[in-house]
Amino acid sequence: GPVEGTASVPQPLKVQDIRHTKIFINNEWHTSSTGRTFPTFNPATGVKLCDVEEGDKSFYVDLDGSIKTLRYYAGWSDKVHGKSLPIDESFMCLTKHEPVGVCGAIIPWNFPLLMFSWKIGPALSCGNTVVVKPAEETPLTALHMGSLIAEAGFPPGVVNIIPGFGPTAGAAIANHMDIDKVTFTGSTQVGQLIKEAAAKSNLKRVTLELGGKNPCIVFSDCDLQLAVEETHKGAFYNQGQCCTAASRVFVEESIYEEFVLRSVERAKKVVIGDPLDPLTSHGPQISRRQFLKIMDLIDSGKEEGARLEYGGVAVGGAESLFIQPTIFSNLRDHMRIAKEEIFGPVQCIFSFKSQQEVVERANRSPFGLVSAVFTGSVDRALSMSAALDTGTVWVNCYNALHAQTPFGGFKMSGHGRELGEYALAEYSEVKAVTIKLRETL
Ligand code: NAD
Repeated sequence: GPVEGTASVPQPLKVQDIRHTKIFINNEWHTSSTGRTFPTFNPATGVKLCDVEEGDKSFYVDLDGSIKTLRYYAGWSDKVHGKSLPIDESFMCLTKHEPVGVCGAIIPWNFPLLMFSWKIGPALSCGNTVVVKPAEETPLTALHMGSLIAEAGFPPGVVNIIPGFGPTAGAAIANHMDIDKVTFTGSTQVGQLIKEAAAKSNLKRVTLELGGKNPCIVFSDCDLQLAVEETHKGAFYNQGQCCTAASRVFVEESIYEEFVLRSVERAKKVVIGDPLDPLTSHGPQISRRQFLKIMDLIDSGKEEGARLEYGGVAVGGAESLFIQPTIFSNLRDHMRIAKEEIFGPVQCIFSFKSQQEVVERANRSPFGLVSAVFTGSVDRALSMSAALDTGTVWVNCYNALHAQTPFGGFKMSGHGRELGEYALAEYSEVKAVTIKLRETL
């Protein structure tokens, strides 16, 4: 997963030699047919890195999880097979798992390498070809992967990469009559557009991994320090720019004040700075647009009467995109920060009295991506995991993502599963070959 095992990862390069800024088709670099390019920026400094060729119609530490994902799916590539089925009368049936065909992958900016790997891993191991559209904020990672793909000797045309914008290059994929499947990670709003475009064009297969407003439930019988640490990481990892962000922390009344106090102490230890400095634990938000959206939500929390325990302000000059880790307590469920996906470094800590009450409040959301439970009781962990309407339930841990484990949402957090054996079903068609036998078996 994105959090684990950073020790073995090479240190980031301060000066990046950017070689790949063009469109990657058939293992070759092409310029845009429209002649247009678009700039890409370092969000920590605001400095323009380069211009990228725009297709029409940053290095974060997601390297370790990406390597594990690609290794895992490389292992599956000769194990994708069907069954031989006993059936009625003098017939037999063989099932075959065939590739879907051309898979479009539209990915976000928050984990540019990991999302690329989560898409191409299962797609390629099932024998598909892929057209990837990276997010306009982070095209360079995918393009560098393109150069590695060519170097590794992939046949031309197996992986193609089209840097560009959502309403043009992204929508072209979703609407295309010759693309057989689209896999998307990003906002719920765009997920709806993609499913609509798929329905109106060729009914291409759709998998969606969308937003979350993820409940973390902390019972008084838990290991308190573990719960403080894990929910802190859950809220602030990648500056809160995670679909899995621990954005609603529900804490049992008897330990509420202590939990808030310790969470504030923990947030004070965060080191804000240049993300390319290994000592930094908290970098900038991705863009001005996201920065303004987060600051607006923080202001709404203050106005609606939540208690600001820590942070709540930008750090640095007027051009800066850094936001101090922010903690709110004394929230009410109707407040905007209690309901909307913030996608920023904001931890909201709620208090609860009973298990039944907290289950109802946790499930009262259109989202259902992940949840977490902190408790010392196995019984309680199991009954809570049955009651929570989310695709993942973490018990006494957070962001525990693994290549072997299926990941995906209930409700408006999307549908379909990524990772694990389950993802193979999203990238293959089952063909039933039924044979009439002359002799009855
Ligand atoms: P977005 O959904 O707009 O962008 C994600 C990807 O979709 C990008 O590659 C983008 O170019 C593409 N896209 C945009 N419009 C499209 C369209 N009409 N057709 C096809 N593709 C299109 O997300 P964003 O604007 O970068 O962020 C907005 C919010 O989305 C965030 O605040 C956050 O709440 C959420 N988000 C979630 C995730 C996640 O991992 N679930 C990732 C990024 C953003």
